[in-house]
Amino acid sequence: MVAVSQKAAGRFAPSPTGPLHLGSLIAALGSYLLARQSGLRWLLRIDDLDRPRVVAGAASEILQRLEDLGFEWDEDPVWQSRRYARYAEVLQQLKKQKLVYPCSCSRREILASAPHAGEEGPVYPGTCRNGPAGQRQQLAWRLRTHSRPICFHDRFYADQQQVLEAEVGDFVLFRADGLFAYQLATVVDDMDTGVTQVVRGADLLGSTARQIYLYHCLQQPIPSYLHLPLLLGGDGEKISKRQGDTGIVSRENAPEMMWLALVFLGQCLPPELLGAPAPDLLHWALESFQPELIRPCNRPLAALRAGL
Ligand code: GLU
Repeated sequence: MVAVSQKAAGRFAPSPTGPLHLGSLIAALGSYLLARQSGLRWLLRIDDLDRPRVVAGAASEILQRLEDLGFEWDEDPVWQSRRYARYAEVLQQLKKQKLVYPCSCSRREILASAPHAGEEGPVYPGTCRNGPAGQRQQLAWRLRTHSRPICFHDRFYADQQQVLEAEVGDFVLFRADGLFAYQLATVVDDMDTGVTQVVRGADLLGSTARQIYLYHCLQQPIPSYLHLPLLLGGDGEKISKRQGDTGIVSRENAPEMMWLALVFLGQCLPPELLGAPAPDLLHWALESFQPELIRPCNRPLAALRAGL
């Protein structure tokens, strides 16, 4: 298998489903500061696989905002929508290894037959393990899991483990609607671009064991992981792009958003920097970032703003 680059890197991988949001800025900042402090390259990847959810113009707007904020990336961004051939090649390899199998189950059938739902949705009961059980033309491809626990250390959430077969079940790498699944794409991209350090939101902590298992199947080294606590909205829910524009990063509010993101990451900024341009704040953080100050509590956006 050809790796595009072997030099170690961190990365930020936004989904272009809307403009840059404070929640994503926190992930961008965490990955950037940690990568730079570790002497790594920092890469950008646009996760635009899920075509129906992609918003036209959002990717270029996100890139523009990151530039305004002072981020500097080391290579041209990778666009997942341009990498289908590579994902197909890896899926083919897994087919040869007999690690994947075609599945004819619809979501409704899985919900009906799943004995219990894990945190990530219904556990796939393995209906098609020995051949597609139904007549559907459109087949998904699932990765065969096993009952040995997948253990890993997260730099923030400490030791984690998951038994994939019992808690997730065999999971989809290629969807019946013809799209490659996020789990496959993210592992192939990180592996091909030399990503050795993954920093992202805690909403993906539950995907990590699946990704580590994929690295095992592909006989590739596993990156280090740091999942960041999530920023919450006033209702205690994860802030999302769909909940209005409260956390959208604009050119005008860039200094405030950069300040809030650094405060969220537990950093103690010198008061004289309040109101300084975002790139100056980023520059300060590059020198002074202390990852051990990231705090376990999830603080709502309103509480962060009240501190300004
Ligand atoms: N594209 C994902 C998101 O925006 C992040 C994927 C990853 O960091 O692995 O939530």
